[in-house]
Amino acid sequence: MEKTLLIKNARVWPSARAEPINQASVLVRDGRIAKVGRFTARADVTVDADGQLLMPGLIQSHIHLCQTIFRGLGEDLPLLPWLRTVVWPMEAAHDPDSIRASALLSCAELIRSGTTAFLSIETVRYTEHAFHAVHETGLNGVIGHCLMDMTGGYPPLAVDIDDALADMEALREGWAGHPRLRLCVAPRFALSCSAANMRKAADYARENGLRLHTHSSEQVEEVELVRARTGLPNIEYLHSVGLTGPDVGLAHCVHTEPHERELLRETGTHVLHCPSANFKLASGIAPIPEYLDAGINVSIGADGAPCNNRLDQFMEMREAGLMQKIRLGAEALAARDVVWMATEGGARALGWEDEMGTLEPGKRANMILVNQDSVHAIPSEDPATNLVYSNVASDVLMTIVDGRILFEDGALTTIDEDRLRADVRRQRQRLLKRSE
Ligand SMILES: [Zn+2]
Repeated sequence: MEKTLLIKNARVWPSARAEPINQASVLVRDGRIAKVGRFTARADVTVDADGQLLMPGLIQSHIHLCQTIFRGLGEDLPLLPWLRTVVWPMEAAHDPDSIRASALLSCAELIRSGTTAFLSIETVRYTEHAFHAVHETGLNGVIGHCLMDMTGGYPPLAVDIDDALADMEALREGWAGHPRLRLCVAPRFALSCSAANMRKAADYARENGLRLHTHSSEQVEEVELVRARTGLPNIEYLHSVGLTGPDVGLAHCVHTEPHERELLRETGTHVLHCPSANFKLASGIAPIPEYLDAGINVSIGADGAPCNNRLDQFMEMREAGLMQKIRLGAEALAARDVVWMATEGGARALGWEDEMGTLEPGKRANMILVNQDSVHAIPSEDPATNLVYSNVASDVLMTIVDGRILFEDGALTTIDEDRLRADVRRQRQRLLKRSE
């Protein structure tokens, strides 16, 4: 039997580039958007939006579910020591229960703050437990299994590429055809992967139609080390091992040379922009307006909780806008462009643009209801400037994924938060003990 959901009396904003429609409705049938605009209809479930903004769910294109439980560890360190002394030892200490707690904690925060889909990089083991956790929460996700075979003085996370691809194959077979979750292939970054590792990862992903996701050109020191090791600028090197293309997302891209930007454009590679992480690890400011002007797709993500410390796309949008104004002047990067990156740009980075990123008939009913009537948002009428500069994550009133309400009336519908809090604290203690 068909199940229908009607959100009525909303200010419907179908996409970042469109104008909002007042007193409008969205009808959902079997998890898909059936109708958008001014109409009346009957449905199994009806929600009166009371004039609030109904828009596409936010999409984060670079996060690490497995790192959320490390929140608050590794403060005030630059990238390479942060990785080697904190993040990698903690990842190595994970077990299935700590992975699950970390993933559920991430999903709770994502759902509460209006993110409906994400692209992630997990660690080298137990990725199936991240899949199980996200499956329970109802979110859409492209979950990356991490590959690394050269860990530069930190052996416990090094996994031979053939063993890693065997794990990948088990994940692929186990989760094939899942309606909401997809697997992606995630070699960590050039300094932790041999060239053979990256080539085999790229070949495997293409043979199986999977997304590729890695980090690139986050800090100057990293770029210099890649050049010293390979003789090439980072993105040129990634290109040489198959890690550019319309199926590849590169997180950060803060430090790139003009010919590397040309390579990103020519190959259709996606840039995954992480403003807070770039601030906190003092990486620099990525040339986002230049990428957009060149026609490169840019999306936004929070990166890992240890370098943020939140998974809050509202904060990322605000910082994405502000950081370019400091660099290029107040005219740089309009709020609408920021919202576009946080929705449609994200959908493209995930390879899911046919089904997400806008409110259109036939697409997945991934939507959020946002209060733009709060004292920190009125009296501005423009939904984009409100969303990027006035709204905060707690203004999200409702989060809907595939037509299912995951957050309403201040509560999550698929996660028991009290149990989660207790479990996260317990798993964190155990994790710290194992990492000693
Ligand atoms: Zn990252």
